[in-house]
Amino acid sequence: MSRTLDEALAWGWGYSGLRPHQRQAIEAGLAGQDSLVILPTGGGKSICYQLPALVGKGATLVVSPLIALMEDQVQAARQAVSAAALHSEIPLAEQRRIVEDYKAGKIRLLYTSPERLARSDLMQDLIEHPPALVAIDEAHCISSWGHDFRPEYRQLADLLQTLPAPRMALTATATPKVADDIVAQLRLRDPLRVIAPVQRSNLILRSLPRQNRGPQIAALVESRRGQCGIIYCRKRSDTLEIAADLVAQGHSCAAFHAGLPAAQKKETLTAFLQDRLDVVVATVAFGMGIDRPDVRFVVHAAMPSSLEAYVQEAGRAGRDGALADCILLHSGDDLRTTKFFIDKENPSQERRDSLEKALWNMVDYARHPSCRHRQISEHFGQSLEGGGNCQKSCDVCLGELKTMPEEEAIAITSACLELINDLDPRRFGRGHIAAVLVGSKAAKILKWNHDKHRLHGTLGGYAEKSLMQLIDQLESQGYVFSGRSNGFPVLELGQTQLDSKQPPLLVLTPSKASKQRSTSSPQVALEQKDHSLFDVLKSWRREIASARGVPAYVIASDRSLKALASARPTSRSELHQIHGFGAVKVEALADEILPLIQAQAEF
Ligand code: ADP
Repeated sequence: MSRTLDEALAWGWGYSGLRPHQRQAIEAGLAGQDSLVILPTGGGKSICYQLPALVGKGATLVVSPLIALMEDQVQAARQAVSAAALHSEIPLAEQRRIVEDYKAGKIRLLYTSPERLARSDLMQDLIEHPPALVAIDEAHCISSWGHDFRPEYRQLADLLQTLPAPRMALTATATPKVADDIVAQLRLRDPLRVIAPVQRSNLILRSLPRQNRGPQIAALVESRRGQCGIIYCRKRSDTLEIAADLVAQGHSCAAFHAGLPAAQKKETLTAFLQDRLDVVVATVAFGMGIDRPDVRFVVHAAMPSSLEAYVQEAGRAGRDGALADCILLHSGDDLRTTKFFIDKENPSQERRDSLEKALWNMVDYARHPSCRHRQISEHFGQSLEGGGNCQKSCDVCLGELKTMPEEEAIAITSACLELINDLDPRRFGRGHIAAVLVGSKAAKILKWNHDKHRLHGTLGGYAEKSLMQLIDQLESQGYVFSGRSNGFPVLELGQTQLDSKQPPLLVLTPSKASKQRSTSSPQVALEQKDHSLFDVLKSWRREIASARGVPAYVIASDRSLKALASARPTSRSELHQIHGFGAVKVEALADEILPLIQAQAEF
């Protein structure tokens, strides 16, 4: 190896140094050791297997489930190393040419899908011309304990058995149980475990009760107008409805779900990646590998079915390391709907139990007023640095949450205790309890004489819906649970004992807290005059990305454009000093960028 790793990194990618976890993973790969690499989104997983392709003894084979995005990954890698993708959507003649180039040593980085790898012709070629490293991207897909199990990943271990190369399994999210399962399923041999903290402190995490979805989302997007964001929905029809509302309010926005025509999906994805579209309202079909780095917010219009899925989806924000918002809107309806489908779709009791457990982890995160980063870290078997809370990166630590006054919380608890009675066949649901507390005179209240109940009207200042959400919080804390009686939803007492003197912690809709951290502060603060050059560079990037049919970040990241706008390089060697400008990129873009910067200086 003639170049040091850092020299190769500067030459190929224009970065000033490897991150510690990247170095460990790369060194293991080059030394022939298997590894399991768990780096959060934005942690820089691709360099871990791309750099060995540049400096190692042979090629790297990358197995990835993301056929649709392989081309983008190849385009991005080509700045540094000869790369190609091999999968079923590439014409046969082209596939043959790629394999010949690989065999001739002209391709150092070869992406393929598990299905394509399973074809005997390719395996035979690989056995005859073995790669020096095999990277398995999105490795959690191999585990049925994970949230994104793909059966076609299961055959990988047998296939890889015939190749002598060390294996590098990479993923962003794996609980300790999933990590062990990946090692076992892929038959990694005494692997080095490179595990970075899951906490990403540039993400500001918030969880809010969903009250009035349309206006709530409209307000969140309006206060981030012009920023790039993703809004995740559970239902396809919701994506259309919310996108239409936002378009009507003048936002650059489109819907995306698996049932839309292929051409429309492709156009939405391309426009988003080329920075021609700000907001996509999508189901999870807009999924893994959406690697636009400057996503400034991810809003969940409903709760996903596991915390792993939430971390993965919300984690698409802020890959560039600058501040970004992750906002979860949740309600008891999400819990009930998901539970309904778990029961309906899974005949096996064991599977139902495991899915329900995962769901409750999600619900606890959504409703429990303790540091959100700490909750996530603990879920993944880690603790936050210093063992405490994040201090300033979630709504709880920022002090944005307001809890219910003690005497009011006690009124709710007492109403539950007095109205939920196991021995009494007249069972009541949360709606009934809320109606008593607000002082409703509805027929159902009068029928049971509950207008005479001592707590009738005690919480008259609240909306019935808000009280129902507060009762949902009691459910997530184990005090009550939703059951059914004669087909009607009823509340029952849970395992944690309700105490009519000890108030539970109930979170009210967040105040517009003064301490809100803004996500608009760029990583490199720009002066006003540099801002206009940054805008010019952004529109140049948009044009060139469209013309070349590649994502904007393949041309240059926001961070690079900001660095250009403030440093204003005037020569090729100065351009090479800019973050993200490796030798190939300097050669490819200098003739366009330098005159553009020069022209701005003349104004
Ligand atoms: P992941 O796949 O883990 O989500 P990526 O490989 O897409 O992460 O990298 C995330 C971002 O960090 C990209 O913009 C990438 O170019 C950048 N990056 C990766 N490694 C480094 C490094 N050593 N120095 C600076 N930037 C880096």
